[in-house]
Amino acid sequence: MANLVSHPDEVKVVTKRFGQGAANIDRYLELDGYKAVQKALELGADGIINEMKASSLRGRGGAGFPTGMKWSFVPKESAKPKYVLCNGDESEPGTCKDRLIFEHDPHSVIEGAMIAAIAVGSHDVYIYIRGEYRYLLEIMQKAIADAYAKGFCGKNIFGSGYDLNVYWHGGAGAYEVGEESALMESLEGKRGVPRIRPPFPAVVGLWGGPTVINNAETLASVPHILLMGGKQYAEIGVDRNGGTRLFSLSGHVERPGVYELPLGYSLRKAIYEVGGGIANGRALKAVVPGGSSVPCLKPDEIDISLDFDSMMKAGTFLGSGGIVVLDDQTCIVKFALRTIQFYRHESCGWCIPCREGTDWLSKSLKRFHAGGGVAKDIDNIRYLAENMLGRTFCPLGDAAAMPIIGFVNKFRKEFEAHLDGKPCPYEKHPALSQLAVVR
Ligand code: SF4
Repeated sequence: MANLVSHPDEVKVVTKRFGQGAANIDRYLELDGYKAVQKALELGADGIINEMKASSLRGRGGAGFPTGMKWSFVPKESAKPKYVLCNGDESEPGTCKDRLIFEHDPHSVIEGAMIAAIAVGSHDVYIYIRGEYRYLLEIMQKAIADAYAKGFCGKNIFGSGYDLNVYWHGGAGAYEVGEESALMESLEGKRGVPRIRPPFPAVVGLWGGPTVINNAETLASVPHILLMGGKQYAEIGVDRNGGTRLFSLSGHVERPGVYELPLGYSLRKAIYEVGGGIANGRALKAVVPGGSSVPCLKPDEIDISLDFDSMMKAGTFLGSGGIVVLDDQTCIVKFALRTIQFYRHESCGWCIPCREGTDWLSKSLKRFHAGGGVAKDIDNIRYLAENMLGRTFCPLGDAAAMPIIGFVNKFRKEFEAHLDGKPCPYEKHPALSQLAVVR
């Protein structure tokens, strides 16, 4: 059971039922549960999609694509069954927010996915949960069984004449399956590697049918949007970035945790006010603002709005909302090494730039950190990463390369401090034990 944290600046929308026993269906009903899906049945497909567009909800998995627009791409008529797929394969390092939703409010995911299904004319919903989240599978299994027992799923839901089935599926523990086409391959019982696109899932997806794939937090936001109205939800955030976001704040902060903040909130305030500042009175060195796959920001770059567009303008991404804070005693070379080792391990090995690039970067950074580097290695590391960008089959190649390029560009002096056989200047810092290098 994960601990809950809170801060007065939070705006609790998705998390409003956390800590109130909402995993129990009767409690969920007391807290306005399953009212939104009934409203969705009254609104019909176009009415739901209009509310979603008005909400400016953008995908919470990382890409930030507008949800209402995504749903509108699904063809109204289809010879094949249509599907809704919840992506609960949360695996981005530094990100731990979907697990809280599954744990504290599983019915909100079910209800959100049901609304998505009604919007696109689907009768089958699949909820795919990360393999390592075994305990959450049990919670979700029970939640689905309880919804069936109440007659909320299955035939003729809420007396509407609409049939809607909900299924769960557990992954086997692969980061790559968080990529939507790999997720569909995995769900079909195949090896979880990505598909060639186009065609896109909205047209040819699961078992060849039109498919909507949304992150668990995205779907958990949907019932709240329908109940409060899309316009009101949009007003919580900023232009083109409606509502709230669950930020996983971790690393060297005094109060790490998952906080629900309005989009447009200041990154500086998230670190220094919500997170209580840098742990042990130390100074900030860098922030990785959107999960391990995005370029870092330096201390003079944190006066920035936490929204998709502002982050892109600053050369990074809001990504999964995983904010990792690094203090002034963190070795950036070692952090870069630890990052690339993760991607090397998770590369599915299908395409050469990713498979070989992550391996060579891992070897180079390991040698470099150990004091075996020469000056030209610094540019070689950057060159290697730059040549992975845009040359891989799925976004994992970019995800591996972008943070490394950022570290070299922004912390070159730190790389230079490891040259000429010098020992790592930070090796004695106790916090480094948390960043232990995986052999
Ligand atoms: Fe596999 Fe990496 Fe290529 Fe993606 S980029 S298909 S993870 S080898």
